[in-house]
Amino acid sequence: MRYHSTRDSSVSVSSAQAIVQGISRDGGLFVPENIPALSREEILSLADKPYVERAAAVLSKYLTDFTEEEVKSCAASAYTQERFRSPAVAPLHALEDGVEILELWHGPTCAFKDMALQILPHLMRVSAQKTADGKTIIILVATSGDTGKAALEGFRDAANTRILVFYPEDGVSPMQKLQMTTQEGDNVAVCAIRGNFDDAQSGVKAIFTDPAVAERLETNGMMFSSANSINWGRLVPQIVYYVSAYCDLLRDGKITMGEPINVVVPTGNFGNILAAYYAREMGLPIARLICASNENRVLTDFIETGVYDRNRAFHTTTSPSMDILISSNLERLLYDLAGRDDAAIRQLMGALKEEGKYTIPAAMHQKIQSLFAAGSCDDRQTADTIRRVFEKYGYLLDTHTAVAVSVYEQYRRDTGDATYTVIASTANPYKFSDAVLTAVSGPSDAGEFEKVELLHKATGCEVPPPLASLRGKAPRFTTVCNREDMEQMVYDLLHIDTK
Ligand SMILES: *Cc1c(COP(=O)(O)O)cnc(C)c1O
Repeated sequence: MRYHSTRDSSVSVSSAQAIVQGISRDGGLFVPENIPALSREEILSLADKPYVERAAAVLSKYLTDFTEEEVKSCAASAYTQERFRSPAVAPLHALEDGVEILELWHGPTCAFKDMALQILPHLMRVSAQKTADGKTIIILVATSGDTGKAALEGFRDAANTRILVFYPEDGVSPMQKLQMTTQEGDNVAVCAIRGNFDDAQSGVKAIFTDPAVAERLETNGMMFSSANSINWGRLVPQIVYYVSAYCDLLRDGKITMGEPINVVVPTGNFGNILAAYYAREMGLPIARLICASNENRVLTDFIETGVYDRNRAFHTTTSPSMDILISSNLERLLYDLAGRDDAAIRQLMGALKEEGKYTIPAAMHQKIQSLFAAGSCDDRQTADTIRRVFEKYGYLLDTHTAVAVSVYEQYRRDTGDATYTVIASTANPYKFSDAVLTAVSGPSDAGEFEKVELLHKATGCEVPPPLASLRGKAPRFTTVCNREDMEQMVYDLLHIDTK
């Protein structure tokens, strides 16, 4: 299987190259030349298999330049019982008849990013052996909070690798900040920037695609790669848990083979929901993909109107990992729906860059509406959903998952669609203790860990050990820089002399 760039179909690389490079030199994203099929027999045969085997089955369809042994060993090293606090890795929790929560936060950093970032370093190591001829790989990350920590944890002390993370100074929760600034490991660095996530992401993307920067790294025996969801190696492991959820439902007799399910995803950069789209295109029986946004409802408006317009106020919400106005992975969907027309994508992405806005053709918009439903909710509705769901079911949602549940409730009310539904739950509630505690028992001006304790007292829900153990830990990384200084910061952190 070869991979093309969304902005130049003539680019053709192996999956190992796509993973090591991260992004195409033309600024486009790597996409597989076709979407491989997953037959009903294969799905059925995976129903009684553990997560690692389900992962190997899906990954091997995309990573055709990896041997079967390599794929298996990557999956087995990533989804271990030491790293994931649930033997199922990504278990389902039945909220009520026909509505399941897919818990994607049992990994070491308590957010769904672990699902991909625990395996990406292994995929990267194997890919580098195939392609990178001994260069040190520099993982450059822009984060809205969860990717940064998950990438740091995944890549810490990985051989021949260094990782640099930029996060928006005021755009992450206190727990997220503490998780990153206290990160251990000899090959890690973390820096805050003055700006929001989009500033961090476009800064990283600019450094990443600048040939002069690449050359400077090259002369120092280094090369960039990315752990953001623009990296294909991030996306493909995310397809697995949708397949796995379907397998669990089959195994438990909750659905029959071929029965379609709806999937609801709290969305920011469009990576997680794009993985669900790929699962659907592979043949997983998914009816509707329901895209949930917070007040930054750029995707909801896009799906409703066919106009993507980032020229709008940026809202800082209680679901910060979804505070995004440029959803990078949408480009991959558009490429697919445009019949792999790279010129059309260059034009749309050019308009986004120049005018912050583009309009898709009517036929493409119709196609999107046939696949996706969308909705949004504000912080008040988010808090209300957390409180109601806890009172009714005794189940505690984090703010991001609450956005998804709220949007699902609206969708169900508006459409009456009672299809079996899986809602992706993207973080443990204790990562956002302030907002969750406020929702459950009213505001508090206690410190972060007092809030964790208060929330535990109010709900009885277990505090995950990786969060509890951060208490009292001193930050290692306290630097803040301006967006314009990010490039220099990269050189400083890598000890590259620019004089
Ligand atoms: C990253 C993240 C999201 C958004 O996922 P995308 O793949 O960017 O759409 C939602 N919730 C949480 C908790 C996240 O960390």
